[in-house]
Amino acid sequence: MKKLTNYINGNLVAPIGGSYLDNIDPSRGKVYSLIPDSDERDVALAAKAAKEAFPFWSNLSTKKRSDYLLAISERIEARMHEMAEAESLDNGKPISLAMEVDIPRARDNFAFYATAILHEQSESHLMGTTGFNYTLRDAIGVAGCISPWNLPLYLFSWKIAPALASGNTVVAKPSEITPYTAYLLSEICVEINLPPGVLNIVHGLGPKVGQAISEHPDIPVISFTGGTATGKQISATAAPLFKKLSLELGGKNPNIIFADCDFDEMLKTTLRSSFANQGQICLCGSRIFIERSIYEKFKNAFVEKVSQMKVGIPSDPKTKMGALVSESHLNKVLSYVKLAQEEGGRVLTGGNRVILEEAEFKDGYYMRPTIIEGLDAYCRTNQEEIFGPVVSLQAFDTEEEVLAYANSTRYGLAATLWTSNLQRAHRMAHKLESGIVWVNCWLLRDLRTPFGGMKQSGMGREGGFEALRFFTEPKNVCIRL
Ligand code: NAD
Repeated sequence: MKKLTNYINGNLVAPIGGSYLDNIDPSRGKVYSLIPDSDERDVALAAKAAKEAFPFWSNLSTKKRSDYLLAISERIEARMHEMAEAESLDNGKPISLAMEVDIPRARDNFAFYATAILHEQSESHLMGTTGFNYTLRDAIGVAGCISPWNLPLYLFSWKIAPALASGNTVVAKPSEITPYTAYLLSEICVEINLPPGVLNIVHGLGPKVGQAISEHPDIPVISFTGGTATGKQISATAAPLFKKLSLELGGKNPNIIFADCDFDEMLKTTLRSSFANQGQICLCGSRIFIERSIYEKFKNAFVEKVSQMKVGIPSDPKTKMGALVSESHLNKVLSYVKLAQEEGGRVLTGGNRVILEEAEFKDGYYMRPTIIEGLDAYCRTNQEEIFGPVVSLQAFDTEEEVLAYANSTRYGLAATLWTSNLQRAHRMAHKLESGIVWVNCWLLRDLRTPFGGMKQSGMGREGGFEALRFFTEPKNVCIRL
């Protein structure tokens, strides 16, 4: 069975402790490879290599750093199909999604930051004839990048690319649940001769490897994407060490539908925004609020479409809903369906595990997309993140009422709004407590825009120049004239 390796100081190496974890293919429910069960000793080696590489990398010309990142981007493009297959196998997502979204986006993340640094400008502030100030932005040192399983290479590269582009060296940890494409990325770094120590990838468990990264004294900046509870744990570790932190955390996003919207466009997009990647995207809209006059029309049309969605083998190009990422996650999602029923919800479609007919896939973690109605906006099902193919429907009468529902959770990541009334769109966008508001669209992404959440959905922003700012230390230089 294939054993993945860590990537430390330019080499593909076994973990020091010699132990491995099972890597499970969720479409079959079977172990298909082994990943290093690394510990603080591997993190220490990686941090040492990254620290030693920092003076060289941070002093390299912007153009040369850009060339390395572009070379990575080109190799991802060249290995696109293989990487999409690997992502689908590792995560359970349909291969069509990995080909259209995950791997192209990982490629674009490197190309985006490779070119962004060529266009950076520094600020200056004139003080009449007295003096002037200019701002230097220097790389900080070794950056720790920790990412989740839902968009494995996409989110991993969304951190690594700006960290490296701005001159930091990196110790990165992918999710232990979906490590494979991070391993392929380390192969690519070897192929393009990325200088040793610039990027180091350490595989293993969060409480061991992730915790060791958060604690390490030579890693002063940490970018984390994952659950809110883990973010809290990382903050507790990193805050007394005065580390710079960026946290991209959970969500419970509202999808608000007014009667005056373009119904067909809204319905088509709402299918995606509810169930893309089996509902395992932090930006999916899991609470759907519908203006009362079109509630029945929407409900009937939505239930009909969702009940026809094919749940199938991820490697089949026609599959729209693949497997959930793990058995424990499937069980967690199913337990929320049970909770919803206990809270008075009615399951309109789905709610159950699916056993595929193909014998090879009968132990996979499949579930029917699920719609629930009849729940109160403030019940646990509507307040806690489920992170699976489960949405709830609720009618509303006024803007004020739906705003109160939308803003009622502890989260504030993304909101979607469907209306053809421009004034209302502006009014609502302003009042929604959400880092991202999509009007008449969903997941329309421009990599230059700030990305992140309010409240317990996170701290700080990624994306565009926000990420380059995060990974640099501003220094004001004031000169008397
Ligand atoms: P998770 O928090 O369990 O794990 C995320 C990463 O943190 C993994 O690599 C894990 O190994 C590591 N980790 C776990 N414990 C750690 C510790 N004590 N110290 C350091 N690292 C540790 O999250 P997950 O289940 O992999 O991902 C799902 C969550 O991620 C959901 O809550 C989802 O909303 C969130 N998410 C947020 C965004 C966003 O941009 N805001 C994007 C994607 C996913």
